[in-house]
Amino acid sequence: MKFTVYSRLARLCYGAIFILLIFGQSANAEIIWSWEDQFSNGEKRKLRQWVARTVSGIEQHVTAYPFDIHVSFYRRDQQREPVPWANTRRHGIQGIDFHVDPAFSLEDFLDDWTAPHELSHLLIPYLGREHAWFAEGFASYMQYQVMASMKLISPEEMQQRYQSRIERASQAYQRSGFVSGEPFARAAPRLRKARQYPTMYWGGAVYFLAVDRELQSNGESLQAILREYLACCRTKGHDMEGLVNELDRIAGEAVFSRAMDVMKNRAGFPRFDHLL
Ligand SMILES: [Zn+2]
Repeated sequence: MKFTVYSRLARLCYGAIFILLIFGQSANAEIIWSWEDQFSNGEKRKLRQWVARTVSGIEQHVTAYPFDIHVSFYRRDQQREPVPWANTRRHGIQGIDFHVDPAFSLEDFLDDWTAPHELSHLLIPYLGREHAWFAEGFASYMQYQVMASMKLISPEEMQQRYQSRIERASQAYQRSGFVSGEPFARAAPRLRKARQYPTMYWGGAVYFLAVDRELQSNGESLQAILREYLACCRTKGHDMEGLVNELDRIAGEAVFSRAMDVMKNRAGFPRFDHLL
């Protein structure tokens, strides 16, 4: 009797493990941790919690990543902020290198925009240096969407941050004589060379603000389009044109490519007053 119950139980367990292996693996990204410098166990626990909460925040906002995420930590003591530097790794693996000062609290790490920004980058393929404005605009727009969805900032705070950063970028663009009269997408590579990163990032974010607004006026959203893109197409490795076409296809209309034409052809910093 006991034996029968146990063997049934065992079969059930094996069945459950089998199902988890088959479906769990494809549905949930694993985070692969690497510690490139010395960290105490307490520091490791805090840093793992920070990144795991952000990954799950993004997965709840959009959907599960269809690949594992490789996260490496480098130690930077005595810094003024918890994450003085971070970058994505896009060749062969999908990952992020975080340079962190572990003296900061978990709350300080969660209040910082770096993790939502870097992890948002991984939602779309690497598009090459010449399209950095698009990738950075996307991650900059998404970072506050994700923080608001994780309830780390309010929707009002999110709007205020968009407003102040975009206004600052617009003023800097007008002051930069070498780009001021040019369409943004054409001027962006020179902004990058001149290391005017916030101007490039937040000018790019206007594209996503505009696209999301138009999608929402049609009962859609960037969030919903991304959810479908992640599920069907993220691992196909699109280039810039391929990505924009795919997003148009999912949206059922040319929202993304029309907005791209504006970025390429309309002179000056992208118009944003009507979006905020
Ligand atoms: Zn970035």
